[in-house]
Amino acid sequence: MSRILICLFLITFISCKENTDRPTAAEPTVAEVKEDIAPTPVATQPDLQSLPDTSFVRLADYSRDFVYDMKYATTDNFLEKQVYECDECYTRVNTAKALIAVNKAFMEKGYRIKFYDCYRPHSVQKKMWEIYPNPIYVADPAKGSIHNKGGAVDITLVDMEDNELNMGTPFDFFGKKAHHAFGDLPEDVLNNRKVLKETMEAYGFNAITSEWWHYNYGPTLNYEVADFVWHCE
Ligand SMILES: [Zn+2]
Repeated sequence: MSRILICLFLITFISCKENTDRPTAAEPTVAEVKEDIAPTPVATQPDLQSLPDTSFVRLADYSRDFVYDMKYATTDNFLEKQVYECDECYTRVNTAKALIAVNKAFMEKGYRIKFYDCYRPHSVQKKMWEIYPNPIYVADPAKGSIHNKGGAVDITLVDMEDNELNMGTPFDFFGKKAHHAFGDLPEDVLNNRKVLKETMEAYGFNAITSEWWHYNYGPTLNYEVADFVWHCE
């Protein structure tokens, strides 16, 4: 009896050792398997779920599915001045989660979000006000804007080849034609704006009347104005 037990023990031990010590050459490593299933954007970032809603995150660290054209990091904007040192898109954590979710919904329709502006530090708001002190075009830094709170984004939609959808006016076109209520536009423009607005609203974002590109994430409206400034390489 005891000889059988010893034999069973030896067989188990030997087979286990064989399994652990000698994987066959064809077996992929854990890293290879992971890469096949889900490429991780940046492994060193803390999990979005583990961060407080009010923390600031760099959106590109959590998704590769967005397109960026950060206009205020260039001179291609209505101020004709570069007011950001470099082109980064940061938002509060809750806003980032909502943007990733709504972008998934857009991708199911064959589109993706392209950003023109995201969180804007209060010091940059002051700089913009010094260049263009007109409350119709620039939020007075004394009040601040939802961009300063990390909950507003200026966006459009692109197709899967990164071609911008026709929204009827360029970004930062200040006139009636950029208003949501302006109906004298081609059918495809009205439809593109409708897709953008209805999908954003379904994920907790609010449109404003005068700018088709601007969306506020509801839960951030009462957040404090912030002056966190991201690091540029
Ligand atoms: Zn805006």
